[in-house]
Amino acid sequence: MVLRAPRTPLELCELDEPRPSGRDVLLEVLACGVCRTDLHIVDGELERPKLPLVPGHEIVGRVVRVGGEVVDLQVGQRVGVPWLGWTDGSCRFCRRGQENLCDAARFTGYTIDGGYAELALADERYCLELPERYSDLEAAPLLCAGLIGYRTYRLAGPDAEHLGIYGFGAAAHLVAQVAVAEGRRVYAFTRPDDAAGQAFAVRLGATWAGGSDSAPPHALDAALIFAPVGALVPIALQATVKGGVVVSGGIHMSDIPGFPYRLLWEERSVRSVANLTRADGQQFMRIAGEVPLKVSVSEFRLEDANVALDRLRGGQVEGAAVLWSAA
Ligand SMILES: [Zn+2]
Ligand SMILES: [Zn+2]
Repeated sequence: MVLRAPRTPLELCELDEPRPSGRDVLLEVLACGVCRTDLHIVDGELERPKLPLVPGHEIVGRVVRVGGEVVDLQVGQRVGVPWLGWTDGSCRFCRRGQENLCDAARFTGYTIDGGYAELALADERYCLELPERYSDLEAAPLLCAGLIGYRTYRLAGPDAEHLGIYGFGAAAHLVAQVAVAEGRRVYAFTRPDDAAGQAFAVRLGATWAGGSDSAPPHALDAALIFAPVGALVPIALQATVKGGVVVSGGIHMSDIPGFPYRLLWEERSVRSVANLTRADGQQFMRIAGEVPLKVSVSEFRLEDANVALDRLRGGQVEGAAVLWSAA
């Protein structure tokens, strides 16, 4: 499925089979998750995507061919391909262990073709091993919702006992389970009228669930925001204790409205999460191998990618949307 121009539907078309060279492997795509970031790209909210573009950065694939310099992966192996597709390894951010901020990074399904396809190329150095306990459909959302969600969660700090999560979609439903397994109390905030989303959060172990316009029954030590809604930043700050942090996990958000300084006062902080490092990916996959996560998947055929994107835009997907191809 190909994006030719922002704000137009993806088109189903036949592309030439990609040829792997260097450290690239050719993957048969077994499943590919649909992430809110894909929506931001299709809707023109993220600038300068590769065009035409095959979106998709939660790829579960099986290696079918390898480039001449591939050393680690073999034909037949199942691997995952996340958002971070390539880095230069030499800029000042890469040199200090922040390859997520690399000046020259390339991103799967944004500046390189991704997984809304039957075949995809990936650099073996950026592929991740996947825990065997998850099916192809279940493993796909781990690759962005899970691991970017996990990076967001980690930035809440090790001492956040009462953790608020605003926007209970693909990332939140995975991160909430990790947080509960680590003994934290989770307070889930959804759209005010989303009773089904609130029930879903409670089923996954949340202590409390309610609308984002309501106050939690306990002050929050930290809050994670996964909904692309800037107005949630002051709301989350208001619910957070002294010294607490509000972490935004998304790549794009509507403007944050002005708010009184007293909401930030007392050493509260607001920060964002950008991309991932390979170390984040490896760490999260290890945890996902140990903690049996219930992955809630809404599956769509590859050719129905536009339907999946529409449902996500409308907030009508419980858990994570995942594409698969019958080919
Ligand atoms: Zn770099
Ligand atoms: Zn994503």
